[in-house]
Amino acid sequence: MTLRRCNDFGSYLRKRFGCRVQKITIDAGFSCPNRDGTLSSGGCIYCDGKGSGTGASSRAESIRMQIQQAKARLAARYKAEKFIAYFQAFTNTYAPCDILRKRYDEALADSEIVGLAIGTRPDCIDEARLNLVEEYTATHMVWIEYGLQSIHNRTLERINRGHTFEDFVRAVRMTQGRNILICAHVILGLPGESREDVLDTATALADLGIDGIKIHSLYVLKETPLARLFQAGGCTGLDQETYVEWVVAFLERLSPNIIVQRLTGDPDPSALLAPGWSLNKQQTLSLIKKTLEVRETWQGKLFERLPLDKVTSGSYFDCNS
Ligand code: SF4
Repeated sequence: MTLRRCNDFGSYLRKRFGCRVQKITIDAGFSCPNRDGTLSSGGCIYCDGKGSGTGASSRAESIRMQIQQAKARLAARYKAEKFIAYFQAFTNTYAPCDILRKRYDEALADSEIVGLAIGTRPDCIDEARLNLVEEYTATHMVWIEYGLQSIHNRTLERINRGHTFEDFVRAVRMTQGRNILICAHVILGLPGESREDVLDTATALADLGIDGIKIHSLYVLKETPLARLFQAGGCTGLDQETYVEWVVAFLERLSPNIIVQRLTGDPDPSALLAPGWSLNKQQTLSLIKKTLEVRETWQGKLFERLPLDKVTSGSYFDCNS
């Protein structure tokens, strides 16, 4: 019997588009107010100079070129037939609307791109930008991915996010009702956060009516403020066993309707300082799946706010995000 314990993104996409759909990460050459001096120049303490991107734009690779190269690679590797243009690097609403439109249009000109995903900060969105993004919902599946990481403002301050949980709630409320899907990013294992702190984040998100979540493990990249903290003993991070247990407990508290887009981090091996286990993504995913099975639990087991008749039927799938 198939164990259906997690509402995973891959299954959601296959159901919606009838084929394998893969995300193409795009570095469109944007900046970030937490790096360009507007809020700070140091950035979030775990962020390296690439802002989670590939560095493609600094190599002068156009959006079109990035898409062509990724399509060939993903079609060969996963037999993907359709793709989502994922504007990942830095803050992808941090530019005037006419520039944003040009970059999004360039990505969506490819007929095999069926979705647009925009990674941004919750303090870099407003009605004008949302009006622009909403236009694309007429033809494409559209996600906005807001970096939150934790609901605790003391943690956000410690990691130098430069925004508050209230900023995130404001962004979510402004985005809702526009046919734009909302994904939140969280990190488990942030300095100073206990298991209870992490589960508070799960409970708060469960109540907000978001559509998706990416759960990352904290990893330490070289030459970041976090690396210096780690080397000075001010941050130990989580061992793999603890991370897996926290993820399972986190999932239990989420609404079963939230689509899980990611269950662990995926660091660049050449930039990673610690922990070594974060390079073994498949092993971590297997352990999460096994723990869900052994504990006979599932996403939403402890979520009690949504009446059962409101839960989307058939929304549970194998956990393979
Ligand atoms: S918001 Fe993103 S790009 Fe900006 S400093 Fe933080 S992690 Fe880096």
